[in-house]
Amino acid sequence: MDSKRTEIKDLGEFGLIERLTKSFVNKQKSTHKGIGDDAAVIDSGEKFQVVTSDLLTEGIHFDLTYMPLIHLGYKSIVVNVSDVAAMNAKPTQVIVSIGISNRFSVEAVEEIYSGIAAACDQYNVDLVGGDTTSSASGLIISVTALGEVDKKQIAYRDGAKENDVVCVTGDLGAAYTGLQVLNREKAEFLSNPDMQPKLNNYEYIVQRQLKPDARTDIMFELKELNLVPTAMIDISDGLASELFHICKSSKVGVNIFEDKLPLDRRTQEAAVEFNIDPVTCMLNGGEDYELLFTIAQDDFKKIENHADIHFIGYITDESKGLNLVTKQENVVPLQAQGWEHF
Ligand code: ADP
Ligand code: MG
Repeated sequence: MDSKRTEIKDLGEFGLIERLTKSFVNKQKSTHKGIGDDAAVIDSGEKFQVVTSDLLTEGIHFDLTYMPLIHLGYKSIVVNVSDVAAMNAKPTQVIVSIGISNRFSVEAVEEIYSGIAAACDQYNVDLVGGDTTSSASGLIISVTALGEVDKKQIAYRDGAKENDVVCVTGDLGAAYTGLQVLNREKAEFLSNPDMQPKLNNYEYIVQRQLKPDARTDIMFELKELNLVPTAMIDISDGLASELFHICKSSKVGVNIFEDKLPLDRRTQEAAVEFNIDPVTCMLNGGEDYELLFTIAQDDFKKIENHADIHFIGYITDESKGLNLVTKQENVVPLQAQGWEHF
């Protein structure tokens, strides 16, 4: 008998998804777009409905030694709302499923739900269902989010065209440096439990890790400007990894300029302190939950003076590949090394 065993790590997360799902063929006429974007797209008649799901597991996505339960609840909604916004869609409902053990009191689970409630208010979405079960292996939270968008305004990953302008919102790398601070404080705490965490100078980056926000504000602003991105994705795994997704789906290349990447001073200072290249934090850090999108050249004037949208590069022909133009004007191939869970 052929009993070949393949290790998951040999395929990686994306290779595994591809292998598991490649033989599925959509049967429903209403399935407009299935696997392969930030959310699936359902043709509901007048509009498109989008639906997306993210699973957060203890020890992999969060560490309860420093993640307050209220923030965990909030973040579980944010990561899903962010995927809805990445389709240029307005989030409408969420479904929340949790796996808990008797290690948690009712009050502790209520803490999670107060964070969920705060996020539902912040993003104007309704909690409309879920499931509750016990878990023998730590806390598990799975959230499914729904949203809606006018058919003409939907943004996929695959629409980027040569010469399009590449834009990113906010600043990058902060959540990753925030995580470094939290890990350092945790290690110190474990060796000396009397110690008080020293987070004073790191509020911004720690908050970017513990309480990120989804950029629905930008999605609404783009609508007001009558600007539909040619491609869009949210930054969960790091800028480089998301650029790879857009370029692979759109069959294009990209040039990104190092000196255009949006870096907050506080992120830079922390990166230097941890001996990490700030550019690596921005390219490969992840969990920024900013939006990365491409727009036609003609649309650039609509956002050129926007304080929170940054031009970072432009789309090239596929044969050129993905490149970073350094401050010294060297052109180096981009490396995608997003989060590896396996
Ligand atoms: P994101 O980072 O935006 O949440 P993912 O990288 O998790 O997206 O997923 C990529 C695509 O693969 C999405 O379309 C997602 O719905 C799909 N996908 C992920 N895991 C599975 C799975 N176990 N079965 C079917 N589809 C999946
Ligand atoms: Mg996404």
